[in-house]
Amino acid sequence: MRLSYSALETFRTCPLQFKLQFIDKIKVPKSKEAIFGSIIHETLRMFHEPAHPYPLSEDDLLKYFTQKWDPSVYEDQREEAFAFHEGIQILKNYYAQNKGKQLNIVSLETPFDAPILYKGELHQITGIIDRIDKLQDGNFEIIDYKTSRKMPAQKSVDEHLQLSVYHLGIVNRWPSLEKENRPVKLTLYFLKHGEQLSTIKTAEQLNETKLKILDIIEQIKKSDFKPKPNPLCDWCAYQQYCPLFKHKFIKPSINEEKINNVIKEFFEIKSRQEKDAKRMTELKDIINRYFNEHKIERIFGEEGYITRLFQKRFGYDIKKIKEILTPLGKWEEVLTIDQSKLNKIIDSLPYEIRRKIEESKKIEREFITITGTKSKDVNKDVRG
Ligand code: SF4
Repeated sequence: MRLSYSALETFRTCPLQFKLQFIDKIKVPKSKEAIFGSIIHETLRMFHEPAHPYPLSEDDLLKYFTQKWDPSVYEDQREEAFAFHEGIQILKNYYAQNKGKQLNIVSLETPFDAPILYKGELHQITGIIDRIDKLQDGNFEIIDYKTSRKMPAQKSVDEHLQLSVYHLGIVNRWPSLEKENRPVKLTLYFLKHGEQLSTIKTAEQLNETKLKILDIIEQIKKSDFKPKPNPLCDWCAYQQYCPLFKHKFIKPSINEEKINNVIKEFFEIKSRQEKDAKRMTELKDIINRYFNEHKIERIFGEEGYITRLFQKRFGYDIKKIKEILTPLGKWEEVLTIDQSKLNKIIDSLPYEIRRKIEESKKIEREFITITGTKSKDVNKDVRG
């Protein structure tokens, strides 16, 4: 299988989005955040381009950014002005941090292939590395620019899948790095904060990366590409094709009128139930105190009586129970798996065993749940 790192990441976020974008190849307009990121990346690439006869100034940098700027992607002037100012600020900071530095930039926007051979099948993960520098100690540094606001913890940078894939890509480009066991510095450059977080991968981590990728490829092969709601849904450009969001794009009709009334009633009942549940907790509290005060366990009213019962839950000594039930052939019958504990154990197992467990998975029961989530901002609704 040949797929880009971004496709891999998209599948992990949402299988349906992966299908729409990379299998069905449905074209959608880029989000304003993606356009902003592209302009910043392009400006920095231009800034470091070796073709300039003289070092570029801050003005050159800002001028290029301004020429590339596209105000039409923003909803209003205020939003556009904010984003433009943010872009200018990022570039000013970047210039201040990097001017006069003796950078030895080896390559910009470098495409790569990271091959993974497993049981005779060759998989290729592709991508583009923003910048590769040669450091003073002779080793290489891979730099990936980020325009996101959020900065991850060092631990998640150390475990960063993207950086590991980049490492595999550079080693494929220059195999001597691996043969000579040379470290590769992997850096995420958070442009909004002017901060860099770096890590160096061990051979063991790189091997783990290959196994993780194989896992994802296996999941892709078996996937039914169901939507997976996630925190990025609000920015997903495929909402109109997604069963979780499609309804927002349906034009109002008589049928829609009817379903709107059903939705209204659903939330009225839900909110009543929530109020009732809250009040029930308060009533139980009052009754409990009354029982304590009068040293009784039952109270009578016109509608019936209410009883308090003290209950105990016991846990068994599993070892002993196993000893007793195994000779009777009953142990297998009582054995049920704690799914969350099992998941934790599976995560810690080697790839081959994880795969075998995965293959043994079967659907036990399918069921439907219908839940209601009250919108905080009804204006977000795009129907009209
Ligand atoms: S809106 Fe969310 S669930 Fe739907 S396709 Fe996009 S990412 Fe997936």
